[in-house]
Amino acid sequence: MPRMCGNVIRNLLSKPATRLYPAVKREPPERARGQILFDASRCEFCGDCERVCPAHAISLDTGWQDWLDGAGAAGERGNEEGVTWFRVYNPFRCIFCNLCIEACVYGALTLDNHHLTPAYDKTLERSRVQIW
Ligand code: SF4
Ligand code: SF4
Repeated sequence: MPRMCGNVIRNLLSKPATRLYPAVKREPPERARGQILFDASRCEFCGDCERVCPAHAISLDTGWQDWLDGAGAAGERGNEEGVTWFRVYNPFRCIFCNLCIEACVYGALTLDNHHLTPAYDKTLERSRVQIW
């Protein structure tokens, strides 16, 4: 009993053994595969990332099919400001294999070691890419 009282007092006065998440977050390891970041200003819309992705998490949307179908363009094109297409990324399909980053010779894709925040729905990331 006296030994137990000592333990109880020590536990009451010591710091918690676990982290007070989310108030105290752990810094991820430097090489952790947290999320893929996309810099639209560097993208040349070459399609290499889409081709190498084994999970089909990336697609490049030119809107041409909509245009051919007569349903209007998904992108904005043909005006004096140039052409805008879209890179569509599904982070919930991504397996963080890094193949797209290795394939992108323009440096538009980088790896960040911070993980995605929890989400309520599986929203796709739709990024505008100005072609010219
Ligand atoms: S992100 Fe890189 S690999 Fe993908 S389309 Fe843009 S330039 Fe090409
Ligand atoms: S990290 Fe791999 S799975 Fe994720 S988008 Fe890039 S190629 Fe696809």
